[in-house]
Amino acid sequence: MHFLRSIIIFILSLIIASDSLAVAPSTGNGPLVRIRIGKSLRQIMVSGFDLSRHIISTDDVKSFEGKKAVRFNCETFKSMNKDRNQPIHVASLESKTGLISFESEKYRGLLKVITSPKGDSCDVVNVTPMEDYIAQLLPKEMNGTWPIEALKAQAVAARSYALHKMTSQQVSKILGNEAFYDLESSEKHQVGGSFFDATEKTSNASLDTKGEVLIDQEGRVAPVYFHAKCGGRTLRPDQVWNNREAGYVGVNCPFCIGVGPKPWDKVVTEDRIKEFLYWAIKNKYLKFNRDGIEAAVVKVLPDNYEKYKVSFYINDRLVLIEKTLLRRFFGRVILPSNSFYLKKDSGLWSFVGEGLGHGVGLCQIGALAMAQRGWDYRKILTHYFPGHSLKKMY
Ligand SMILES: [Zn+2]
Repeated sequence: MHFLRSIIIFILSLIIASDSLAVAPSTGNGPLVRIRIGKSLRQIMVSGFDLSRHIISTDDVKSFEGKKAVRFNCETFKSMNKDRNQPIHVASLESKTGLISFESEKYRGLLKVITSPKGDSCDVVNVTPMEDYIAQLLPKEMNGTWPIEALKAQAVAARSYALHKMTSQQVSKILGNEAFYDLESSEKHQVGGSFFDATEKTSNASLDTKGEVLIDQEGRVAPVYFHAKCGGRTLRPDQVWNNREAGYVGVNCPFCIGVGPKPWDKVVTEDRIKEFLYWAIKNKYLKFNRDGIEAAVVKVLPDNYEKYKVSFYINDRLVLIEKTLLRRFFGRVILPSNSFYLKKDSGLWSFVGEGLGHGVGLCQIGALAMAQRGWDYRKILTHYFPGHSLKKMY
């Protein structure tokens, strides 16, 4: 019966998919997203009730009744792709009656075992409907107890980010081969959750905005970024990572000031400031004679949060440096955000700032403050993304 139902759902999903979105088969809870949940593993153990295991190379499907653990020794896959130097889909596992366990987390849907390009380790990929993925992600990337309108704004942002990765096949393009996944569950992309992370509230935030994403003026799904707290203004992607993305503008955000993570004040030595200047010269961000720096008198001009650049005097020469460059050098511990100013008081250098994260796109603390004032998710998104519009894709 379960098998028959699965076939019907599968056929239905193919019909829906061909009709609405040519990305992946769609289900009642959106198109299927492929998320890498484990990487570079030597051994894999997957367990669950009534597991079905499909070995792809031999097309061997085996079903196990009751509880079963299936192990893979990934080092044995080396011989499989000696000459190909490409990842291989080794096996798929599914529990027909419920959840499947991997590394103490439980997942719904399908788990795929994929080899590394050289075949000396494995990745694990969870294939799951988009709206389930979003409902599980919200407590990880935001906070599942926040007001529903803030969660809905985050749901649209995270869905846009994921759908952009899927439709542009960005991961495969970067790797230069079929990656077998659309995005990974990590800080690099988005931290996804597992089955028990979703709550009624986060499921509602996902389903109430089902299929909604932000698009640019050409109608393309936008790569939507978000961060914890901008500290007063948001930035465009090209100001932080050099990648230009259509539609992005930096906006003022007075909403997050005085809320959430506290302002910070970090003391640094003059030697570190000079090391930064050496680094900037070496990497061609700054044209200056390296030898001239050591004995130079370095001063900083009065500064504020709103400025994107720090103005230094190195001896009598004025030099402007992007703040995002200082954060790239000093790191996220010294500079938790890109919203700061540098000052020198009684010979002591310090960075004074507000905010947490890169500052591009949606400011989560700002969204929280807006939702608390009664703004709905559309109004929140319009504030941070005035150059994008909302569209229901499925
Ligand atoms: Zn903000």
